Amino acid sequence: MNLTDSIQYLKGVGPKSFENYKKLGIFTVEDLLLYFPFRYEDIAGRNVVDLLDGEKATIVAEIVTPANLSYFGARRSRLTFKAKQDNSVFGVSFFNQPYLKDKLEVGSKVGLYGKWDSKKQQLLGLKVLSSVEGEHGVIATDADFQPIYHVMQGVKQSSLVRLIQTAFEGGALELLQENLPQELLRKYRLISRQQAVKAMHFPVDLNEHKQALRREKFEELFIFQLRLQALKDQEKSGREGLLVTYDKEKVVAKESELPFELTSAQKFALQEILADMISKTHMNRLLQGDVGSGKTVVAELSMYAAYTAGFQSALMVPTEILARQHFANLTLLFPELQVSLLVSAIKASERREILEDLATGHTNMVVGTHALIQDGVEFDNLGLVITDEQHRFGVNQRKILREKGQNPDVLMMTATPIPRTLAITAFGDMDVSVIDELPAGRKPITTRWVKHQQIDEVLKWVRTEILKEKAQIYVISPLIEESEALDLKNAQDLYEELSDYFKADARIGLLHGQMKADEKEERMAMFKAGKLDLLVSTTVIEVGVDVQNATIMIIMDADRFGLSQLHQLRGRVGRGQKKSYCILVANPKSESGKQRMQIMVDTTDGFKIAEEDLKMRGSGEVFGIRQSGIPEFTVADLVNDYNILEVAREEAIKIFADSDGNFENYLSSFNFSDSDFD
Ligand code: ADP
Ligand code: MG
Repeated sequence: MNLTDSIQYLKGVGPKSFENYKKLGIFTVEDLLLYFPFRYEDIAGRNVVDLLDGEKATIVAEIVTPANLSYFGARRSRLTFKAKQDNSVFGVSFFNQPYLKDKLEVGSKVGLYGKWDSKKQQLLGLKVLSSVEGEHGVIATDADFQPIYHVMQGVKQSSLVRLIQTAFEGGALELLQENLPQELLRKYRLISRQQAVKAMHFPVDLNEHKQALRREKFEELFIFQLRLQALKDQEKSGREGLLVTYDKEKVVAKESELPFELTSAQKFALQEILADMISKTHMNRLLQGDVGSGKTVVAELSMYAAYTAGFQSALMVPTEILARQHFANLTLLFPELQVSLLVSAIKASERREILEDLATGHTNMVVGTHALIQDGVEFDNLGLVITDEQHRFGVNQRKILREKGQNPDVLMMTATPIPRTLAITAFGDMDVSVIDELPAGRKPITTRWVKHQQIDEVLKWVRTEILKEKAQIYVISPLIEESEALDLKNAQDLYEELSDYFKADARIGLLHGQMKADEKEERMAMFKAGKLDLLVSTTVIEVGVDVQNATIMIIMDADRFGLSQLHQLRGRVGRGQKKSYCILVANPKSESGKQRMQIMVDTTDGFKIAEEDLKMRGSGEVFGIRQSGIPEFTVADLVNDYNILEVAREEAIKIFADSDGNFENYLSSFNFSDSDFD
């Protein structure tokens, strides 16, 4: 037998079941060995003396009398025998399973699943647990666990178990090569690969299973981290970066023109970015910073640096509203430069002109949406590519933009803080800069959670805030998942209700995704200019939007939103010197809904919120991770295994550094047999 053999040659696999196994991803003997159970059923069973009347349970017991089979009627039968567990002897009867008779031998230990009848002190047997070791579906094992695999129609648990057993019997396990260095096995007291794989399927006890899982998790994360190291290395050496020799004096001069001083975190991040740009290595950097920490200005100065070195730069953002906002900022900050805006909703003639200017190099900077990565968009000399709210983009979209230049430097910004565990994994191939402080003078946002019944009080308060404080307010309409039409209707209804309520006391505007581009722009501009007091909006303003004077964020049916979305929405206020508030209006029905509201009330720290989000939802759901290129792990789990992840990463970095880039060879050179070390 070879590990690469197709399983169709194993006993018990026919053409039809082969098709089904393939659907599970099991093609070869190796796939089969590495197809691990996702949980184990505890068949250690219960103590009969503890069972309550009517309770269903598994009991492992010894058969003490021969099974007696009696028929009544043509088809109906009853099988009875006595079994013993410790000092308790009890009766067992099975109805209509006459074939069990031959399998229940006196003296053997079996796992019996059934319903306990305490009056009669007897078990109404439902199932004899399927075999781990024996051939006929009767267990005769001391194992406390029965593995449970993900299966699908056409593949039965018991057949899969038997097939794995067949492979084991054929010696497949012995063919598996150790793939971790002995040194690491010793250092971290990891069991060998063969031991682990065996124990993953058929653990003898809880401890053995724990050891197997620990080893398999380490292996999975370690090998993943090694690949990331290789990727990072490729990025750095394989593709030489551009030398962006920017004019330091000009950049410093521009910085001093800003209406505020950069925070030290902003300065530091900018230094790191500029150092990457001027060096020959290719920049591949993530700029991480909580909402409102001031990433934009860092991006703008980096773009300016690229300009002073004679390069074009591009800033890609996920929404048109955000693109327009950045465009306005850039033109204000760099009146002497040629800045373009490229979004989908523009006239063909205008678009042609913009593309022409980009291709000839007339344009110095461009900001845009997905429109930037369409065919036909070409640059003269693109030196720097920045994506804002990068988690909103898929891996491919980011790549396309990068490929429009001669390997330009790349900066990705994320307002959504990513928990350390995920950052290590998702961006293990990137360098990371963090802006971990807010500009001076910001006041903490106060968050309140109110029930729908209290909305009147909230609106009364809003009225006085508008009249006395000239407050500006966002009201986010409830989110109806996957229905833009309903979102729109909700926003419109809410707009009308509020207009009715406030009458002449407030100037109210409406903003939603289906409005025409110029309408959206006009509405946003009015709000920003203070010509609207209250803006009813859908989540189109979720990310990036910056109106410093807005101080109240009201989120209707807040429990319909996820934590990271709520955090983003809340981040639309508290961006200036004024005290800000976030009001969550929600009557959550689910426990998790209540939890989310409470977390929002308890903290404004984006990192804490992200950690909670990760715990509640699992890594796959958070921050569009599915799109970010993180693989789905089979045994490891990013929420609970971050300790292992960090250790695995450290070791991977060391080993990779020692391996001259050829880690596969390097790894196998580690694997002498144990005796070579003595
Ligand atoms: P984000 O990191 O969420 O993208 P922005 O870049 O939009 O945050 O910045 C939020 C607000 O803070 C903007 O109005 C910006 O002009 C302002 N800002 C940025 N840096 C500073 C600073 N160092 N001091 C004062 N205000 C700043
Ligand atoms: Mg931003």
